[in-house]
Amino acid sequence: MDAEWGTEWTKGDVFFHSAGKTKKPTFEPKSEVMITFEEAQEITLGQAVSFGVEEISFREVPGRVLAAGITADADIPPFDKSAMDGFACRRSDLGNPMRVVEVIRAGFPPQKPIATGECAQIMTGAALPEGADVVIKVEMTEVAEGAETMIVFKGDRTSANICYRGEDRKAGELILPAGMLLGARHVPILATVGAVRVMVARSPSVGTLSTGTELVEPAAVPGISQIRNTNAYQMLAQLGAMGINADYCGIAPDDPEQTRRMIGEALEADDLVILSGGISMGEYDFVPSVLKSLGIRILFSQVAIQPGKPTLFGTKKGKFVFGLPGNPVSSYFTLELLVKPFIYECMGHRWNPSLLRLPAGKAITRRKSHRMSWIPVRLTGDGKIIPVEYHGSAHILALSEAFGVVAMPIGQTEIKEGDWVNVQLL
Ligand code: AMP
Ligand code: MG
Repeated sequence: MDAEWGTEWTKGDVFFHSAGKTKKPTFEPKSEVMITFEEAQEITLGQAVSFGVEEISFREVPGRVLAAGITADADIPPFDKSAMDGFACRRSDLGNPMRVVEVIRAGFPPQKPIATGECAQIMTGAALPEGADVVIKVEMTEVAEGAETMIVFKGDRTSANICYRGEDRKAGELILPAGMLLGARHVPILATVGAVRVMVARSPSVGTLSTGTELVEPAAVPGISQIRNTNAYQMLAQLGAMGINADYCGIAPDDPEQTRRMIGEALEADDLVILSGGISMGEYDFVPSVLKSLGIRILFSQVAIQPGKPTLFGTKKGKFVFGLPGNPVSSYFTLELLVKPFIYECMGHRWNPSLLRLPAGKAITRRKSHRMSWIPVRLTGDGKIIPVEYHGSAHILALSEAFGVVAMPIGQTEIKEGDWVNVQLL
């Protein structure tokens, strides 16, 4: 979203979290006032705290955030090595027949230096013998006429085909900084430097709770006026994709006493509770008043976004609550765009998803522009984006067809056909 995101987190080699690092909000939050998406982000990120660190095996790092930087314990690569199967020799000898003095296999040190007119047969990954400055590919050589132990170079030119000692990193240099979100591609790097135990951030423990008397569990057949609880499982899956195994705390009916008891229990059990539904203006939307009665300080309860306006964030003594809208498309977006960055911030990682810049395949217009709109879009065969059929924030099927989302800022009513737009992948 913001180009400045992510810069300070790549420096240094010790874990730090955002508390004290992120600017304090430049305005005093007033819970009942509608704020912009950017203000909501500033408030949530400014509240982030660390939930500690833990040491895990390097094999378990995908999805985790590195809490302490990793340095190289030796030069990478550790010695000059051949990148090809071929012959190691002197470049100045390429025009002449060369005598093969030994065969160097990977894992065996060379025994003989290479002098003028000599070469060593060498395998990929084997150490380069002293005196050699080039490896010629076996395909570019021939056995010299009449002499079994002589070869000649048949090509016009060759690159060196050598991986030089320390060309990737020198011993002691930082190779993976604290705050980095790790994936499978980082596992071999950790293995390379022998970092078999790795310090990573703990995530907050998360509980999800749905509100609404109309809700039944997905396995049940809904009665008249009932619907299945989809949000809780969507939220659990979104968190699961971040590697967070969240608790499911059930369905609270629209009754203040029961809602209070269930939210209270969830807050006892978990650091972060994500609620869905019950926070808009309806007569049975009890969540804000229940949260206040539990001593939660509500920092905002309305954000100028569409979908997702009734989105709430509150805190009390190291515990955090997000109240997301009941409609599943809204809760999907608000979790991705507000909750996820907050959780990563608590883990010392500034979430900064890559945006694709793509042309609009047709115009996207809207009448009102007082909120930021998130528009689910799909990709056409010729690399353009067009909005998916979208009947509003209850239209969960729209998301399954969407490739990404495009934000239309406050004040803008139109994206013209052919305009280039930033697409955040879903
Ligand atoms: P609310 O935010 O409670 O006013 O709910 C807005 C809309 O979302 C209503 O149509 C609800 O029935 C629906 N809704 C609320 N919670 C869920 C849920 N957990 N799963 C599916 N739909 C929900
Ligand atoms: Mg409701």
